[in-house]
Amino acid sequence: MPTFVRTDKCDGCKGQDKTACMYICPHNLMKLDMDGSLTGHAMKSFNQEPDQCWECYSCIKICPQQAIEARPYADIVPLGASVQPLRGTDSIMWTIKFRNGTMKRFKFPIRTTPEGSIDPYGGKPEADISKIAEAGFFVQCNGFRAGDASELIKK
Ligand code: SF4
Ligand code: SF4
Repeated sequence: MPTFVRTDKCDGCKGQDKTACMYICPHNLMKLDMDGSLTGHAMKSFNQEPDQCWECYSCIKICPQQAIEARPYADIVPLGASVQPLRGTDSIMWTIKFRNGTMKRFKFPIRTTPEGSIDPYGGKPEADISKIAEAGFFVQCNGFRAGDASELIKK
C-alpha cells in the first residue's frame, strides 16, 4: 500500500528546500521532482521507492494539501476504497470510503499535551549514537534476552 501523490493537489510545499513529506518520512522515500525530469511533473513530490513504504501515514497526515493517498493493492483492497486522514491540532478525522459508495467519518482526539510540547525522551536518557554498532544496543540487559513465556500475549 505505497503512497501516491495527487499531482493536481501537490504544490511542492511552495518550493521550500525540504517539503513536509520529505521531512517526515522515516524511510526517506518522498522526493520532490524539482524540474520534472524524473516524473514529468515539475515541483511535485513522489514516492521514489514504493515497495519500501511501510504505510506509516506520516506523510499523508502532514501534507498541508491533502495530496497524498495510500493506494492499496487491488488484490487486497478493491479499487475505489480509500482511507484519508485530516489532521487538526487536537484531533484527527478519518474519512473511510467504501467501494459501494458508503462513507464513514471518525474523529479522535490526538493529543494529551499541547502541540509541540512533547518530551520525546520522557525522562529517559538520550540515545548514545556512538554505541549504534554495539551488539545488544537495542535490547534490554545489555544483550540477547531469552524469551519469557509469561510475557507472551498468546499463551
Ligand atoms: S507535503 Fe504534500 S504538498 Fe508538500 S510536497 Fe509533499 S505531497 Fe506535495
Ligand atoms: S507512508 Fe510513511 S514510509 Fe510511506 S512514504 Fe509516507 S512517511 Fe514514508
